[in-house]
Amino acid sequence: MNRETEPNTISVFGATGSIGRQTLDVADNIGARIDVMTAGARDDVFETACRKYKPRIAAMADCDAAARLRVALADTDIKVLGGEDGVIAAASETTAADAVIAISGMAASAPMIAAAGRCRRICMANKEAIVAAGGHLLGAIKRGGAELIPVDSEHSAIFQSLHSGRRDDVDKLILTASGGPFFGKKRGELSAITPEMALAHPTWLMGPKITVDCAMMMNKGFEVIEAMHLFSMPADKIEVVVHRESIVHSMVEFRDGAVIAQLGSPDMRTAIQYALTYPSRRLGLAKRLDWRTISKLTFYEPDTESFPLLPLAYESARRGGTYAAVMSAADEIAVHEFLRGRIGFCDVADVVAGVTEKYGRSGEASFDEIIDADREARVRAREMSARIGGAD
Ligand code: NAD
Ligand code: MG
Repeated sequence: MNRETEPNTISVFGATGSIGRQTLDVADNIGARIDVMTAGARDDVFETACRKYKPRIAAMADCDAAARLRVALADTDIKVLGGEDGVIAAASETTAADAVIAISGMAASAPMIAAAGRCRRICMANKEAIVAAGGHLLGAIKRGGAELIPVDSEHSAIFQSLHSGRRDDVDKLILTASGGPFFGKKRGELSAITPEMALAHPTWLMGPKITVDCAMMMNKGFEVIEAMHLFSMPADKIEVVVHRESIVHSMVEFRDGAVIAQLGSPDMRTAIQYALTYPSRRLGLAKRLDWRTISKLTFYEPDTESFPLLPLAYESARRGGTYAAVMSAADEIAVHEFLRGRIGFCDVADVVAGVTEKYGRSGEASFDEIIDADREARVRAREMSARIGGAD
């Protein structure tokens, strides 16, 4: 690579989250040093991590939390930055070879672009920003000179499977979906679902927003769009299949009918570590599959009637423009409102579909237009949630 970075150093953006914490486990496992660490708001949790990993720079998006952290870490050499600008500044100053982008939502986009101008490799866990503005962000990462490696388990599986053939010979990508905790339920049965029920994912342990997205199959819809951008494939060449066991992480079907898959136990640390060590492999942290105990691997067609956000994502992908950005932003708000008990489980799909239909625009969209569409979608989704929930 054409830049000077310190070997075996990682910057972790979103270090207090599910992916962020697992990235720190992986850093321990491969003996990597942490250069920059960032978090949103939880300064208490973040302080403990800063004391353990001793980053050169720690940044928090929340200014008050950053101010508290600065006082708390006054006895250390750690430079503390605050605010969204502070997170971006930290990314602009990193000297790490690799950056793991584990901030959730659109907030990941600016630090991701800044880190791409500094790091050798961007290990991309965030999906919302890619869904909303994939073309623009991937272009910016390339211009920044960094290599992009996917961390999302399905996309890591596809990335690994693609190595067994030529890109021109790929017929389709097959994304596996666990189906979430409500697999097999009909739409009528879904209305009574509470946040606690939606947060109990059968196979993966993740942050709350993505866990609810999984329960609605919205996450899989996002992943179709994510795959479209990451692998330059049209949405109609990306298939979703429900696979309850979460052992086959995704597959690639080649022209001759051969299907190549990547398998393993459901543990994000494998995908995170692979993104960091690719093309090498190191001793992993995940439990090994025991073939004597796996009696069957099942595959089903997704139920698009009960889970309408999956077909909505395909439709948004086909329409292009700001549709995916509007859908993703509306989902972020609607899931938040659901988790706060303000709207019901099925209302989330109604808010997301309603806002997407009404405020999405097709045709070319600039990055600024996408940001504007994202902002408007949030306002509209909040309004619609308030109407549905009967809030004042
Ligand atoms: P999480 O909510 O557990 O963590 C999010 C992190 O981002 C936290 O450190 C939080 O402090 C930080 N953050 C939030 N808002 C911020 C802001 N405005 N500015 C700066 N930092 C901010 O989420 P997660 O489950 O770890 O997921 C992170 C991303 O990875 C998401 O985009 C998710 O879709 C994707 N992903 C997660 C998993 C998983 O297993 N958890 C799997 C695949 C992809
Ligand atoms: Mg995934």
